[in-house]
Amino acid sequence: MALIVHKYGGTSMGSTERIASVAKRVTKWVRAGHKVVVVPSAMKGETNRLLGLAHELAPAHPGCDYDRELDMLASTGEQVSVGLLSIALQAEGTPAISYAGWQLPIRTSSAYTKARIEGIENKKVLAGLAAGKVVIVTGFQGMDANGHITTLGRGGSDTSAVAIAAALKADECLIFTDVDGIYTSDPRVVPEARRLSTISFEEMMEMASLGSKVLQLRSVELAGKYKVRLRVLSSFTPWDIDIDTEDKSGTLITYEEDEKMEHALVSGIAFTRDETKISVIGVPDRPGIAWQILGAVADINVEVDMIIQNVSRDGKTDFSFTVQQNDFERTLELLKNDIAPKIGAAGVIGDPQICKVSIVGMGMRSHVGVAAKMFHVLSAENINIRMISTSEIKTSVVIDEKYMELAVRVLHRAFHLDQPGTPPMA
Ligand code: ADP
Ligand code: ASP
Ligand code: MG
Repeated sequence: MALIVHKYGGTSMGSTERIASVAKRVTKWVRAGHKVVVVPSAMKGETNRLLGLAHELAPAHPGCDYDRELDMLASTGEQVSVGLLSIALQAEGTPAISYAGWQLPIRTSSAYTKARIEGIENKKVLAGLAAGKVVIVTGFQGMDANGHITTLGRGGSDTSAVAIAAALKADECLIFTDVDGIYTSDPRVVPEARRLSTISFEEMMEMASLGSKVLQLRSVELAGKYKVRLRVLSSFTPWDIDIDTEDKSGTLITYEEDEKMEHALVSGIAFTRDETKISVIGVPDRPGIAWQILGAVADINVEVDMIIQNVSRDGKTDFSFTVQQNDFERTLELLKNDIAPKIGAAGVIGDPQICKVSIVGMGMRSHVGVAAKMFHVLSAENINIRMISTSEIKTSVVIDEKYMELAVRVLHRAFHLDQPGTPPMA
């Protein structure tokens, strides 16, 4: 008998038929003798629908604690899911009880729309399990110290599930989704992408942080911190598939490097359209410029990703950096209205039509030339690289958004990711 956390995403919970199938799958695990906690997402499209209603009524405006109300609103999607799933389970004859995050509570910071989990009170979950019930807990939401409902950022149900698994010291956390594991790249963009049976924790961290939304980054971080056994697998296999087969399917996140991984130059390609570029041009080049620009940006709570400062010419330089799409307008405004005049810059240019494409692989640690090969492949397609950043196990480039899919596909092919085994360097 094991204690297992199951997480089901939006597509997996997308209709009453899907929910009935989830109930059958969970029941199968319970009948095999396991204790199961289930963390479902809102039904597919529901979070977008709810947020859309708010924006239709009014955008954020002074005097309205908009983000607080967005969380109050968006968190209801998951509440619908837990109620429905509990009914479906009980209809199967499987005892179940549902809880909203605030009922446990799942305690979070007060950063509405992107709160972080600070602690989980286990008592109700343990009591439910001890009473022989499946305990169903809303994904995505929690409660701050003042009793306000918070949400954990888009894709946050992954993090809820991993946090609950960590708090319960569960034997395994199974992330059921609409693909059958982690692929070398998003299979919806690269049809020849290949499923990985394992991926190292570090590679998964990079993939998630560089745009692969299959797992929310924070969930991977938490899994690493608490060494949660984490597997990503499909909820679209027949629900009555043999449990042992199911428990070996999908992709397992591993915490120890094995021999094979050392040779994999590139394990995956991540990409995101979520970046935008801002350039402050004609900046008088003197000490403190980076601080004056980026300090002001940090003060409005905007995170900066890539940064480039050009060599100075005639005492002037250009300073460029990327921020996420939803921070673009306010960052641009701040720089145009406040910072550029203050530091004597000639102007500020914003470009939202960019994307970031990244290759990720543990093998980059021990092999030179991987980044150079990436640049060569892109140049052969006439794709202009506008920014570059590297770390031990990844190289990212910023390119024009219109080339994103082409870049991902040619890189996928060039690094032989469509072929199993150790990718050759040639
Ligand atoms: P859920 O609703 O189950 O949380 P998500 O849409 O959040 O599902 O995540 C699953 C999706 O992630 C897949 O449908 C796929 O398009 C996308 N994805 C992006 N990168 C990858 C990758 N490397 N491997 C698998 N899926 C990926
Ligand atoms: N329902 C939330 C979202 O759409 C959380 C999740 O699906 O993980 O972002
Ligand atoms: Mg998700």
